Formats: sequence, C-alpha cells, structure tokens
Amino acid sequence: MVSADYPSAVRAGTMAATRLHQELDLRRQIEGAGGNVDVFAAIHTLDLPLLVRPLQGLLGAYLSDPQPGVLVTTQRPMSIQRFTAAHELGHYRMRHQPSLDDENILRRMPLQAPPGGDFQEVEANAFAVEFTMPRWLIAWHTARQGWTVADFRRPNVVYQLSLRIGTSYEATCWTLARHGFITAAQARELLQTQPRELKVALLEAYRPQDYRGDVWLLTKRDAGSRIDGSRNDLFVLRLEEHSGGGYLWDIDQLKESGFAIVRDDLQAIDAEGVGGSVIRRVTAAPPETYRGRLEIDERRPWEPDPPLSTLVVDVDLTGPEQEGLSRAERRRLLEAA
Ligand SMILES: [Zn+2]
Repeated sequence: MVSADYPSAVRAGTMAATRLHQELDLRRQIEGAGGNVDVFAAIHTLDLPLLVRPLQGLLGAYLSDPQPGVLVTTQRPMSIQRFTAAHELGHYRMRHQPSLDDENILRRMPLQAPPGGDFQEVEANAFAVEFTMPRWLIAWHTARQGWTVADFRRPNVVYQLSLRIGTSYEATCWTLARHGFITAAQARELLQTQPRELKVALLEAYRPQDYRGDVWLLTKRDAGSRIDGSRNDLFVLRLEEHSGGGYLWDIDQLKESGFAIVRDDLQAIDAEGVGGSVIRRVTAAPPETYRGRLEIDERRPWEPDPPLSTLVVDVDLTGPEQEGLSRAERRRLLEAA
C-alpha cells in the first residue's frame, strides 16, 4: 500500500532501502572494501531483469507485467544512471505500479512532494536516496579521508565525496543536508559552484578537450580503495615525496599502465625546505575504458630496497553503463571464469 502522506512516504522508502541493505549485507562489504553502493550488482543479485538502452525522453522505467523488470537509459552520466536504477529498484521492492520516469525524479531531489501527491514517486525517490547515500557511507568516506563536518562547506571536498559515493554533486549536497551534516542554506550555497569550476581548478594549467569527465584528486588516503569512474575521467595525484631522503614516486609505473602524464610538478611543503619533503602533483589521463590495479611506489631510484610507501588503487573507468550486460554482470562473469 502506497503511503497516504508525504512524511510517511519518505519514511517508507527509507526503511525499504535500509532493509535491502541489511538483506544484501552491503554495509559490511563496503566498509571492508571501500567504494560505493553497487546498485546494478544489487539488481543482478535480486534476479531483477535489467535493460540498459537509449530511452527517448526517459531516464528509466519500472515494468511489472508480465514480469517485473527495469529499464535505465544509456544517455546520462553514471551518477544519474545509478540514481535512476535505485529509483526503479525502489518501485520493484515496494511493489509499486509500473512507472515511466523522466527528469522529474532528479528535480525532486531534495525529496520535495510532487504536485498531485504522487506518493509512490516520493517512496521510490526516498528509497533511491537512502540506498545510494546512507549516512554511514558518507561517514565512512569522511573518516577515511580525514575530513570533518566543517569541510562539507567546501565545494571541492563535497565534489570529491560525490565521486567516491558515486552520486552527482547536486544529489550529494542535498543529501548532506538531509542527513544533518549541513543546513539547507549551506547546500544551496554549495550549489552556487558548478562541478566544472572545480575540475578547472584541480587541473590547473591543463586544459582537456572538454570537462565532461570527472577529476579525481587521489592522495595516500585513497590507498587500498576502489575508484569507480567513467571514460574521460582524469586523475590528479597529490603525494608527499621524501625527496630529502632520495625517495621519488615512480611515475613510470603509471605510464606502464597506459596513463598519459599531462602534468608533473613539485610544491615545497615548508618554506625552509631543508632536507624536507615536497608534494608531487601528477595529472594523468587514463587509457580508454581503463580497468585494473594501479600501483605506484615511492622508492630510491638507484636502490633495490622495498619502497618507502606504495599507493594501490583498484580502478574501473568503464562507466557509464552501456547497452548489453551491466558492468556488475560483466565483472561477475569475469570472476567466475
Ligand atoms: Zn518512479
């Protein structure tokens, strides 16, 4: 039964998402391995048929007849595909009527009540928000990155958070407010900044062909984590380098993985600079649809000693979802092979 008023609809959607998280044991998995909530893998686990294809004027749809199934468009960035898929999964889990969903599901992002009181849509959106952006997930990444709640007033921090949890910048701003990390006024203030400006600032003098790809700022805090991105994404590595002791980051390892180094510079940490460290800042363009384990060592180039430190990240830049099998299905087939 669909909720009869707005607050009950938000509650029902939120609870249904929490229940599914528990059923699939997602929190334990993510807190162990890092990354985001893999919506497409969840759909696959539930054996809910999924079709990803170009859709005219729609982001997605939930169908129930003759059997349940969901459609998600290929024509949007991965963050929107993930939110749409979670919205449709919500319709399925809450046994809703079939639904054709357009841009309105995004416009209702701050969980506003739709005109005409369509509470089924409120339930599905509340489900999607809670399923993709639960409070513990934000808290986990915040602790991992060493951020504090005060940092959520900085657009660049919120943008990097959004990449790690796999949601749009806008959705992340509203969800931070919803979870009480910031006020609604602060969310609106954050939204004055466009992700494009943040990308330009991160890339400094480097000018890519366009700014559709995301720009990941990777530091040692990302060691051992999973990067789930899209083709055209760029990496800015910001690493402390103990050059006073003769240690250098082995950027050739990036090149060997097919990355193009488009910028590489050093910034002094302290003005004295006596035997101290520097910040190595490397901007790298991954090869097309890169997927693999990226490993770079900080070592003395002339010595066979074990490295002083190593940054290892598991990277999948095959997004957004394309027609055919979802990336989650492909990964499972590869693992089973
Ligand atoms: Zn819907």
